[in-house]
Amino acid sequence: MAHVAFIGLGNMGAPMAENLKKHHIVKGFDLSPEARAAFSGAVGSLDEALAGADTVITMLPAGAAVRAVLVEGAVFDRLSPGSLVIDCSTIDVASARAVAAAAHAAGHTMCDAPVSGGVSGAAAATLTFMVGGSEGAFASARPLLETMGKTVVHAGEAGAGQAAKICNNMILGISMLAVCEAFNLADGLGLERQKLFDIAATASGQCWSLTTYCPVPGPVPTSPANRGYAPGFTAAMMLKDLALAQGAAGEAQVTTPMGERARALYEAYCEAGGAATDFSGIIEGLRKDL
Ligand code: NAD
Repeated sequence: MAHVAFIGLGNMGAPMAENLKKHHIVKGFDLSPEARAAFSGAVGSLDEALAGADTVITMLPAGAAVRAVLVEGAVFDRLSPGSLVIDCSTIDVASARAVAAAAHAAGHTMCDAPVSGGVSGAAAATLTFMVGGSEGAFASARPLLETMGKTVVHAGEAGAGQAAKICNNMILGISMLAVCEAFNLADGLGLERQKLFDIAATASGQCWSLTTYCPVPGPVPTSPANRGYAPGFTAAMMLKDLALAQGAAGEAQVTTPMGERARALYEAYCEAGGAATDFSGIIEGLRKDL
């Protein structure tokens, strides 16, 4: 049984920590008192969470917060050498690699393990984890991650989990825009939405954004379009991930014009008031010529 310090008890972290607590000893910490109230195993300080811990899991908003907690907060110095550190946040690849290097220098094992599956997946322990780290780090992290998710994939060395996450979400952001534009064009051409769905879903236009997350109400009754675009996965989250993809593309000097256009469209949609709606709601923004 691991002794886990779980840092970041927000929308994702609190339900993840609850699932972990069914199998391990978990002490959770968050700067926000409201977030601490959401987890039954919360403690009042980072020091209290770290006392006796052999494992640290972070679920924080961005790379700056992960660096603030793990590096500037000197967490690595306070752990016994050989501890396991897993960052499940979605952050930039450069921060993930830098934090992993600092962990290794302090004698710890570290993985980046961002997730897909959202808040409902966190609550149901059905998340997918994309893991970056050595084979040994992956083997150590896997049993813990399996208590919070159903799919745990080793993507490669440190930072590879974050790279996989942002590449996947860049596909998602672009493909959603393509599907939205196609439905808007169908409307303009007088083609019934259900007819477009039936044909494209079995033709070369088939993709997850169409068949699982269809952005118009009707064809896929479980998609957010059927509940006024209540999230789901917010447009603000999509914008965050597309911005991370663009940052990584710039650093790696890779040209990604569709990814940049998708980022700019989501930015405009968020600025026009769509930030808290599901990302598929951008179909309405596109109709208003973002
Ligand atoms: P959230 O904002 O609800 O939670 C983040 C928590 O971190 C907050 O409670 C905040 O108080 C806490 N925090 C910030 N700085 C801290 C610090 N220095 N010390 C301690 N606590 C600190 O965010 P979330 O929705 O839970 O997302 C967490 C991560 O998961 C993000 O990186 C996000 O991109 C990723 N993610 C979210 C979803 C989703 O659907 N919400 C899906 C996949 C991935």
